[in-house]
Parts: sequence; C-alpha cells; structure tokens
Amino acid sequence: MKTLKFAVLPGDGIGPEVMEVALDVLKSAGEEFSFTLDYENADIGGIAFDKHGTAFPDSTKQVCEASEAILFGSVGGPKWESLPPKEQPERAALLPIRKAFSLYANVRPGLLYPELTDASPLKKERIPNGIDIVCIRELTGGIYFGQPKSTSTLGNGEEQAIDTMVYKTSEIERISEVAINTAKARGNRVCSVDKANVLETSVLWRKVVTTYFAKHAPEIELSHMYVDNAAMQLARDPNQFDVLFTENMFGDILSDEMGVICGSLGMLASASLGAQKNSLGFPFGLYEPSGGTAPDIAGKGIANPCAQILSVAMMLRYSFGQLEAATAIETAVEKAVTSGNRTGDIAFGIDPISTKAMGEAVLSHL
Ligand code: NAD
Repeated sequence: MKTLKFAVLPGDGIGPEVMEVALDVLKSAGEEFSFTLDYENADIGGIAFDKHGTAFPDSTKQVCEASEAILFGSVGGPKWESLPPKEQPERAALLPIRKAFSLYANVRPGLLYPELTDASPLKKERIPNGIDIVCIRELTGGIYFGQPKSTSTLGNGEEQAIDTMVYKTSEIERISEVAINTAKARGNRVCSVDKANVLETSVLWRKVVTTYFAKHAPEIELSHMYVDNAAMQLARDPNQFDVLFTENMFGDILSDEMGVICGSLGMLASASLGAQKNSLGFPFGLYEPSGGTAPDIAGKGIANPCAQILSVAMMLRYSFGQLEAATAIETAVEKAVTSGNRTGDIAFGIDPISTKAMGEAVLSHL
C-alpha cells in the first residue's frame, strides 16, 4: 500500500473548514484505492502571523520541504488588512511560497457543469453545454516579482510607486511546455494572451511562444489575442477557448473572470507546479481553491468545500500519479453538485449549503 506524504496548510477564514471535509474525502479515497495518508499540518497566512510573527514561518517551509506536495487552503482576512503591505498574508505568504518552490505554472480548470448553467452570470444560450476551459498562468515572473519595486517621495512631495514587468526567454519557454502538454491532453488548441501592441515583455512573449510551439508542437493550433479582447471574448463566448495561456498578471485577472463565469468560486481548484520533482518522480506542486478566505461566511459552516476537494483530486493526479482516485473524486463532486443542483455561493445569489452536507454528498458518490 502506498503512503502519500504531503503538507496541509489550511490558512485562515473558511480554509480550515473546507480542508477538514476535503481530507475526509481523501481518506475515503485512500480506502477505496489502497493508499494511506501521512500529512503534517502547518500554519500559513494570518494565523501564522499571529502565532509566529510572520505569514510564512521557516517551520512551515520545512514541513513543505519534507513533503511530496502541498495542500493549501487560503490566507488573509480583515483582521490583518491594517498590517503594512509587505506583512499582509497574501503578499507575505502566497508570493514567497510560490517563489520558494519555483511554482511557475498555475493550472486552473474553468468548469461549469451543463446542469448548473443557471449559476453563471452569462446567458444560458451562450453556454448551453456549460463551460470547459483551462487557464495556464505563468506564476513567478512578470510585474508581481520584477525589480525595481518601490514607493518613494519625489522632491515636490509627491509620492511615486514603481513596479517592473520582466520576462526572460527561459521563463516563457518552460511555461509554453506546460501549455503544450495541457493542450495535448485536451483539444490541441492554445490561445496565448498578451499585450504585444504596447508592452515589450509581450512582444518577447509572443515571439518566444510562436517559435517554441512551431519547434516542439506544430500540431497544436496556436492563436494570439490581446488581453483586453480576451477579457471581452471570455464574457462573450468562453468556449471558443480550450487552453487560455498567459503571463502572471493577465492570468490573475482572466482566471478570476473565468471563475465568475463558471458560476462559483467555491467550485474551482488550481494547481501550481514547478520544475522540481518529488521523490516519486512527479511534479512537486501546491494545490488550492481559486477563491479566498470568504470572511463573510467564515465560521458559519456554509462554505462550499468542492474547490478544496477538487484541489485534492488535482494533487492526486499531478503529484502522486493516482489518476483513478482523482477521476473518482471529480466524478463524485460532479454527481453531488448536479444531483442537488447546488453550489451554495452566496456571492452569486445562490442559497447557501452546509459544508458538512456537501462533503457527505460527495462521500456518498465516491
Ligand atoms: P473571496 O474569494 O474570499 O470571496 C469572494 C466571495 O465569494 C465571497 O462572497 C465569498 O463568500 C464567496 N466564496 C468564496 N469561496 C467560497 C466558497 N468556498 N463557498 C462559498 N462562497 C465562497 O475573495 P475576497 O472577499 O476578495 O477576499 C477575502 C480574503 O481572502 C482577502 O483577505 C483576500 O486577500 C484573501 N484571498 C486569498 C486568496 C488565497 O489565499 N489564494 C485568494 C483570494 C483572496
């Protein structure tokens, strides 16, 4: 029997609530598919700041380093919003953990089951069969990490802030490889999104992507689109895309738009993968829901745990090669959600569900 060793970082807000349910589902999948779990909990985000004075303590990093994968909840909340920007959980935990493990590729499926098209703010006739796309976002380059990054006071007393957008050929090539592999497992179509009419980094992005695809995957249909148009096209006809492929900031924005049109933040998982392989020979990765800590519903027991459960499925697939178990969990979530026709996001005006009840519904289909 295999043992899966991973770090569990539930974080803040609804993080611990949905994590508990997701781990129950994982335990049950282990019984079914013959693996056992060896996981260690560690603090991250606001709770880590409160207990250790930093949002990403060394002790947490060590737990992650000793693991084959990281299962992450979410971080942040009103309690820590008044901290200086550099100490705030998202900036002091999320960005450093991505950097620490070189997690340069974010894979975020945008899936809306046909039975749930009512949950999307898009008109039903635009998405009669639901939505099924994947966003591949570069995660450790671009304007979020580029230097210099500073705020200073000018001679006339005015403040000036600077962020720098930087990309290198090697960074674009390695994420191109992820887009290619994702497309090969789907519809063989990639739309690369940039702003090559204005930005130097985008001119390089487009050139490198075009060359890399032509050399390594000429069979893939590659198109290019400016990011402003892509934002519009996502809202107009999302299924024209198969794999949406873009740099860090554009991906941050577009993948959230994708979350909204898919009707529920509580349904969308993501994987952040890097170059590092774990001891099993699979990519080391961090798996987390696409949404945040949902302070408005935290502690009420009504958060949708499906995004966290689907993050578990992605972890099984990418970092442990447990494809059957991953598919079984995904199918169980689909059945649980579509049979009750519920996703429970109050953000989208849907009646709340009980976190526990949703977990039990998923377990009943496993
Ligand atoms: P959010 O995703 O936490 O919440 C937006 C809306 O979606 C809320 O109404 C919330 O109730 C709802 N929602 C989100 N997940 C849900 C779920 N599983 N079930 C039901 N409803 C759900 O975004 P926000 O309000 O902008 O941010 C809240 C906090 O989370 C902030 O501190 C922010 O910095 C942090 N955040 C963290 C991450 C992360 O850890 N990766 C990502 C985004 C936001």
